[in-house]
Amino acid sequence: MKIHINDYNSLDEAIRSEFGESVTVEGRSYIGGGDINDAACLMLTNGEQVFIKSNKISNKDFFDTEVSGLNAIAGTNTITTPKLICKGTDRERGTSFLMMELIRGGKKIKDYWEVFGRELAAMHLADTDDHVKSGKFGFAENNYIGAGRQINTCKESWVDFFRECRLEPQFKRAERYFDSAFRKNIIILMDNIDKILTEPEKPSLLHGDLWSGNFITGNDGKAWLIDPAVYVGHAEADIAMTELFGGFSGSFYSAYREVNPTEEGYKRRKNIYNLYHMLNHLNLFGSGYLSTVRSMVYNAIR
Ligand code: ADP
Repeated sequence: MKIHINDYNSLDEAIRSEFGESVTVEGRSYIGGGDINDAACLMLTNGEQVFIKSNKISNKDFFDTEVSGLNAIAGTNTITTPKLICKGTDRERGTSFLMMELIRGGKKIKDYWEVFGRELAAMHLADTDDHVKSGKFGFAENNYIGAGRQINTCKESWVDFFRECRLEPQFKRAERYFDSAFRKNIIILMDNIDKILTEPEKPSLLHGDLWSGNFITGNDGKAWLIDPAVYVGHAEADIAMTELFGGFSGSFYSAYREVNPTEEGYKRRKNIYNLYHMLNHLNLFGSGYLSTVRSMVYNAIR
């Protein structure tokens, strides 16, 4: 299911077309907590409030790919994402933007974590054929992991995909941080990755960047997914990321595993999945992440 949203050349035009000819913005309150974009709640003259993310015009692709990702998740009919309104560029303000339903937050439902776990597992069990051009793993287009480019070239094998589309591009980007001894360890790791990773029983649509800042309590009190970096992969890569920075309750994991049990040997593979995110952090935020990357590589080849 692809939900089409309009793409405008100005924010004022977007608001007039979506909400009515006489409607304009009468207030804006900024929302913190994002990594890359400016986020705000827009108060409209018709009394409605909407959420808007904006960035430079040249970063419009962030929003085009975010729309594809949110559409892919919404299409599984398993877990809620905010309703998209429209996107576009605004030459006058020098911005690109994505507008969506405002999440006001609210009281969590009683079994919040269990429902979240079950809904994520259902998403991981959903059909993935629509999202890959060929083969089983990847996505119809490249997208972003934070501000980092994420390559989604489709492959028949998960292990090949993770080696060639996840680790390799990040290692290449980070080359300047590594001395020759460490480069040898990277080669050992890459040559032996098929002894660590395994093919999943079934490919899954992944959120792709599932840390605790990328789910939010929605207007129905349940966890909604935001800001994805979707692709089709091994479900355990999403679960690994939830464990990287924490913030997910134990009942989330037990409910998840009742629906989609963890395959044997996950603990060793988890380190490799999260190495991708730490390499991305190294490339985006600098050498503060180098020692973590080094110890993850050593642990993997030990
Ligand atoms: P970024 O792409 O910059 O990482 P996020 O998508 O994570 O931005 O969102 C930035 C901030 O806005 C976060 O605090 C997030 O919780 C909040 N947020 C995201 N989507 C909505 C929404 N639809 N309604 C209200 N707040 C939102």
